[in-house]
Amino acid sequence: MSTPVETLAQLAAGIVSGRIRVVDLTVPLEPATPIINLPPPFANSKPFALQEISRYDERGPGWYWNNIECGEHTGTHFDAPVHWVTGKDHPNNATHNIPVDRFVGPACVIDVADRAKADPDFLLTQPVIEEWEKKHGRIPSHAWVLIRTDWSQRKGAQYFNAREDGPHTPGFDPKCVPFLAKERDILGVGVETVGTDAGQAYRFDPAFPCHTIMHGSNKFGLASLTNLNQLPPTGAVVVAPPLKIVNGSGSPLRVLALVPA
Ligand code: MN
Repeated sequence: MSTPVETLAQLAAGIVSGRIRVVDLTVPLEPATPIINLPPPFANSKPFALQEISRYDERGPGWYWNNIECGEHTGTHFDAPVHWVTGKDHPNNATHNIPVDRFVGPACVIDVADRAKADPDFLLTQPVIEEWEKKHGRIPSHAWVLIRTDWSQRKGAQYFNAREDGPHTPGFDPKCVPFLAKERDILGVGVETVGTDAGQAYRFDPAFPCHTIMHGSNKFGLASLTNLNQLPPTGAVVVAPPLKIVNGSGSPLRVLALVPA
């Protein structure tokens, strides 16, 4: 067993040499970045916007900078427990006070891309997770459970896949979420869709089971991830710290995975 000093030195040397790859799981933040769109009477967030302050001109001859505007849940973003009413009373449940070690953990990548391709309303069930555990071992403590659907490869209207009854995108079976949240000691879940719940989850029982049960269990969500197809089922480490917004319900963030090359 190496000492912590040796372990960190090996990690740093691995990144420098390329034996450990750093994979970006983040989508670009720009006005076209997809954001969730709730039906009336619910309020919606603003799309991402940049407002130029100066660009090497009379407003600031030597420097370029912008104001940014967006909702907390824009692009690749973090959902804190306080985001949902079921998580509002947990201690340390907002972006500024979650213990920072809980932003970093081993990644378990469950690949259901084929199933989501065949059925856009595909829901992850407990048997699918158990099947994964038979092959790859039990989901460890402090893990990020990432669901690979390849949904991030869809563009424009295909990403939302909306019909008259709302979006049709994959997510979690309501019965599967208590298993992940209570019978496995995870940090949270990560998905490639615009939110952690399925497109049709407004009509599930409970509605929005991933938000309701995960945040009710003081767990986190990562939405709008990409490049999950570059991760092994196990063996990667995910680093996902949100901005330290005081009393924030979430924030856009850069999500990085350290992956054995
Ligand atoms: Mn969110």
